[in-house]
Amino acid sequence: MYSYEKLLQENKAWAKEKIDRDPGYFERLAHLQKPDFLWIGCSDSRVPANEITGTQPGEIFVHRNVANLVVNNDVNLLAVLDFAVTQLKVKHVIICGHYGCGGISAAATKRDYKPVLNMWLRHIKDVYRLHQKELDSITDNDTRIDRLVELNVQEQIFNLAKTTIIQRAWKKEQRPDLHGWVYGLKDGIIKPVYEMKAGTQIDPLYEYDDL
Ligand SMILES: [Zn+2]
Repeated sequence: MYSYEKLLQENKAWAKEKIDRDPGYFERLAHLQKPDFLWIGCSDSRVPANEITGTQPGEIFVHRNVANLVVNNDVNLLAVLDFAVTQLKVKHVIICGHYGCGGISAAATKRDYKPVLNMWLRHIKDVYRLHQKELDSITDNDTRIDRLVELNVQEQIFNLAKTTIIQRAWKKEQRPDLHGWVYGLKDGIIKPVYEMKAGTQIDPLYEYDDL
């Protein structure tokens, strides 16, 4: 059996188990999606949103990319954000990074990862530059990278707040709250590192007043 065939076989077993426990399970989900949460996480295979939060299908709308970045011209992310905030009307947006993130570690080196990855990792280098004084003062390398993981999450929260999608929802419906979390690969625990309530005043330079 090929490795991917195992996935299809496991899928059948999973679907059967769900129906055995609750015959209306898929019928209900097929008709309704009303998640309260948008999750923006890292693509890392060790950080599955539903599994580590004990949530079921239907509860979290998910977007994942390398190092959980919110890039202001990323059409993919912005489409997900707009749909989740404007249409699904989620109450919370969670950015979840994780310690031991390969993308974050890579961005902190001088290695050339070639054009596409370099382009993506550049956003993390910019986060480093914004917090260079604090980061350079940390002598232990692992501790310094862990802190960069946290600061990256914080900066991505700011990036969310800079979008008209978030600002419009804040102004008109006083939601969603923004949550910055970091997941620990070594202990499975999520640590909240930064929070921004709906309607928080941000740098006026990034505020729109004609939403
Ligand atoms: Zn990662």
